[in-house]
Amino acid sequence: MTAFWTEPDYDDHELVEVIRDRNSGLTAIIAVHSTHLGPGAGGTRFWHYAEPEAAMRDALRLSRGMSYKNAMAGLPMGGGKAVILANSDRAKTPTMLAAFADAVDALGGKYVTAEDVGISEADMAVVAERTKFVSGLPVSDEDKAGGDPGPFTALGIFLGIKAAVKHKLGKDSVEGVHVAVQGTGSVGGGVARLLAKEGARLTLSDIHEDRAHSLASELGADTAAPDAIMSVACDVFSPNALGAILDEEGIARLDCQVVAGGANNQLKRDEHGPMLAKRGILYAPDYVINAGGIISVTLEYLCRREQAPCDINEVRKRIALIPGRLEQIWQESDRTGASPDQVADRMAQALIGR
Ligand code: NAD
Repeated sequence: MTAFWTEPDYDDHELVEVIRDRNSGLTAIIAVHSTHLGPGAGGTRFWHYAEPEAAMRDALRLSRGMSYKNAMAGLPMGGGKAVILANSDRAKTPTMLAAFADAVDALGGKYVTAEDVGISEADMAVVAERTKFVSGLPVSDEDKAGGDPGPFTALGIFLGIKAAVKHKLGKDSVEGVHVAVQGTGSVGGGVARLLAKEGARLTLSDIHEDRAHSLASELGADTAAPDAIMSVACDVFSPNALGAILDEEGIARLDCQVVAGGANNQLKRDEHGPMLAKRGILYAPDYVINAGGIISVTLEYLCRREQAPCDINEVRKRIALIPGRLEQIWQESDRTGASPDQVADRMAQALIGR
């Protein structure tokens, strides 16, 4: 394995720790990209990687992404991420989670963890038995910040789509605007419901086709096959499933004016942002538009430490700032000719002192 600091994704990360625990069989990586604005915050991914290098790349790339996301959301948090390397049978045991929790705790708050792909609320509750540096725990009171971040992420995306429609199409409402939604899970399903309520015309797609069909019949929407959704002629394409879908081939297939959705890391590589702009398609940078969930999770953590109000309305108030932030990015992009992703990266880098 090559040294991690020679990886192209290494970006002067403040801390990269590899954890091996023989007892439980845990192998994990914790990466803290920046603590300039506060503790490195970001979820833990439990994933089976074909090779350890891929796990290191994920930890480096995702922790930097969290620095950018938290900074652009105006949160007093830096960026971090953990990955637990699952065996091919993906066995996850309480002793493994306990060993991971001890490693998080030993960092003394430099890293604050939460759920990510493969890690549930119940897993985080196990981790929380051994460390207080955890967010994304269940909350019993509906008026308090916290709980499932999906609906909050969906709300921010809905508001972001409305801002994009206003900027690109000059419309104050999404009524009659055609949105193609890729992925109808927690986030995409929530976005579709909010759009339908305001009268948008929807085409939905999911690899679990029954999921897309049942939501479509509930909302009076059309459906498209998973391999056809990116080429549907529409006003807005909203990716809410996988990352890295915007490459040469994906961008060439688009028949829309706006790309605005919640999937993380939508652009496969840096050059794909300018490529999208060249086609005249307005892009809402993913880590700006999909910050609703991290806003909720962070306020829940800060509330428990008595460093922020616990009121759910504070979460909604901060999510309502997402459209303004996007508009600022698009105006700067229009003014300078830099693509929106480049403008957002520069803004985020300035905020974290890079
Ligand atoms: P989810 O698992 O609930 O939903 C994802 C859906 O996408 C599933 O229904 C899945 O079947 C579908 N899907 C997968 N591949 C597809 C394809 N090729 N075409 C169509 N559908 C496909 O996950 P989620 O929580 O809704 O997250 C969706 C995306 O948003 C992910 O990229 C995630 O990283 C990102 N995200 C989620 C949150 C959150 O709060 N949940 C926050 C920020 C970003």
